[in-house]
Amino acid sequence: MEQVLLLNITYEPLRIINWKQAVTMLTLGKVEVLEQYSREIHSVSFSIRLPSVVRLLRFVKKPRTPVKFSRQNIYIRDNYRCQYCGRKLPPDQLTWDHVKPKARGGKTEWENIVTCCMECNRRKGGRLPLEASMKLIRKPSIPKWLPALKITLGLKVMPQSWRDYLYWNIELEE
Ligand SMILES: [Zn+2]
Repeated sequence: MEQVLLLNITYEPLRIINWKQAVTMLTLGKVEVLEQYSREIHSVSFSIRLPSVVRLLRFVKKPRTPVKFSRQNIYIRDNYRCQYCGRKLPPDQLTWDHVKPKARGGKTEWENIVTCCMECNRRKGGRLPLEASMKLIRKPSIPKWLPALKITLGLKVMPQSWRDYLYWNIELEE
């Protein structure tokens, strides 16, 4: 149940692991515990407080896992801004737009999809931006997110003890 934040030796957040993995790594001497939950676990040979943040004692190269292609992640990549008029809007007032229209062979992929407000979407219709005299504020690309941002995206509630290790990322987000 309790999740553990795994940090690289550099303190960079890597991923979330479960407490059993964390305890295994701990007994193998692979990690040190930085933060703990109040709950204790007992086994025949030991009893410890559950770790909440652990840090690797050896550097590991960050695994490059691609960011899932989804509507929400497109909005996040574009910072909830219409990529034509630049307005920042709540998700229910946004949609996505095929820069090169589907009917003209435009693919549904990171490099051809942008966040778009309803107005700009209507205005553009089935045309290319140039044909509609519209200009993208930024060329769409595959996001290369900081792992911390990806880590927190999937969580409903972030454990308090993680904040010190992830907060720098919250600042970057704005
Ligand atoms: Zn717009």
